[in-house]
Amino acid sequence: MLWRFVTLVLCQVCVAALGWFVATPGDEWTMALAFALAGSFLWFVMDCMRGLRLLRWLREGAVSDLNLGNGLWGESYERVRRMLRAGSRLAVESDNRLEDFLAALQASPNGVVLLDSDARIEWFNQTAVEHFGFDARRDMLQHIGNLVRDPGFTAYLSARNFLHDINMPGRDSSASKPVKLSVHLHPYGEGRVLLLSRDITAVEQAEAMRRDFVANVSHEIRTPLTVLAGFVETLQTLSLNEQERQRYLGLMSQQAQRMQSLVNDLLTLSRLEGSPLPSVHDWVSVDLMMRQCEQDAMGLSQILWEQPHDLVFKRTPGCEIAGSSTEIHSAVSNLISNAIRYTPVGRRIEVEFSLLPAGSAVFHVRDQGPGIALEHIPRLTERFYRVDRSRSRDTGGTGLGLAIVKHVSQRHGAELSIESVPGKGSVFSICFPPHRVRQSPSELTLAPVAKSV
Ligand code: ADP
Repeated sequence: MLWRFVTLVLCQVCVAALGWFVATPGDEWTMALAFALAGSFLWFVMDCMRGLRLLRWLREGAVSDLNLGNGLWGESYERVRRMLRAGSRLAVESDNRLEDFLAALQASPNGVVLLDSDARIEWFNQTAVEHFGFDARRDMLQHIGNLVRDPGFTAYLSARNFLHDINMPGRDSSASKPVKLSVHLHPYGEGRVLLLSRDITAVEQAEAMRRDFVANVSHEIRTPLTVLAGFVETLQTLSLNEQERQRYLGLMSQQAQRMQSLVNDLLTLSRLEGSPLPSVHDWVSVDLMMRQCEQDAMGLSQILWEQPHDLVFKRTPGCEIAGSSTEIHSAVSNLISNAIRYTPVGRRIEVEFSLLPAGSAVFHVRDQGPGIALEHIPRLTERFYRVDRSRSRDTGGTGLGLAIVKHVSQRHGAELSIESVPGKGSVFSICFPPHRVRQSPSELTLAPVAKSV
């Protein structure tokens, strides 16, 4: 302010002095006063021009630099410039923060939709696009009710009771490929709503599978239990002769064995699901395992059928597979046991282990049984799936054998394949990858010695 006063006085004095010198003698004081007034006006005009320059600079967006010197206008300019700079720095920072925040919402595996107080869409992420089929250009500021037309959702939105979520079909849901979404609305801010959607198809499927599994197990156990209970009651109430008693006890023992096999297979499956993957450093001798399988197969063939099958085991000596011997043995013997159970007497069953050129190896179990129609093949490894229920039960099947084989194969990085021609027979193959197959080291060292002899 002092500087402002000094410049005003200086301007008046200088201009008054000029008036004094140019005045005719006797008019000096009058002229000096008039010039002093003119000087004040000049100072006022110059001051207004500096103020106007500052105003114009602000109107034009305060982009260029301005020189208003010192004093009131210079300092005002400097302070405004600093405030504007700080403001724009803050705006950039909050823009960046908003972008980070939106990027985080974009990365969310859940669908996120921001709705204004009239339920119009303000923003949504890519997952919401997949869930609801929104279009970023077309659907912004559209009412969500016009785009998500599921009746359950419409009722949920209009009831405004957002304490719970709702389930509804996804955009691409069809009878053959159902898609289930869980949608939850959360109110926030002033009447705004956050919509979160989650794809729960897999969870629903797992839940349905769990329900089916429990129902199947209960059914499988209930049948032999009912039969057993019936026999127990018969033994308790009727006076039977020794021969009848023995017959009933035999039938009871069969049912008990059926339950035992079922429980054993269930335990095997649960062990397979719960245990770590088989090591790639534990080597199992294929030859030894095949010998064991051959003995078991001959025993089973004799127990189930009066005349044995034509069992052929073709080995490639000295081969080893990396993995769990119990699991591999269980998979191969399940395939052999199926072949024996489903192939009529006298027909040929061939079990072969062979090395493939690329270093992998394959177990084949070929039979001349009834074969399997093409439509059943993709479902054979499902738990409790059977083509012929009574045949499976009569021969002691649990419906879990191929599920176990598939699980074991997957855990060893191997692949189970099934080829079958109805009326001619089937080939079940487990192909092990090269890193799980080797020639046993003892065979490798023996080979050159044999040659030299
Ligand atoms: P199961 O204990 O009933 O044999 P699996 O899971 O081992 O259960 O087999 C599933 C179904 O696949 C069987 O019920 C049977 O219908 C069919 N199947 C399996 N192996 C053979 C085979 N070698 N020949 C014909 N059908 C077979």
